[in-house]
Amino acid sequence: MKNKSSDIIEKKLADYLVRVDRKKCLSFGKCVGAVPELYILDEKQLCSFKKDVKKVNTKNLMESYYLCPVGAIYIYDKNGKQIIP
Ligand code: SF4
Repeated sequence: MKNKSSDIIEKKLADYLVRVDRKKCLSFGKCVGAVPELYILDEKQLCSFKKDVKKVNTKNLMESYYLCPVGAIYIYDKNGKQIIP
């Protein structure tokens, strides 16, 4: 049975909050290619976050949203306002 609590994961960075809906993730790994210092695929081959990441390149972070073919990535500013989608 799937663990509901791990379906949506989030990572707080210095300037952004990144959320990933793992129910949507189909393991394409495009996000990992765009921001390898932030994203990893876990043992189930689903998107997860690396530990101890504080800052990432903004352009690459936004690109990870556009590259994800299933729209599993959501990005917020540090005040919680949703930037994309
Ligand atoms: S790009 Fe999207 S579908 Fe692919 S691993 Fe990342 S979150 Fe999952």
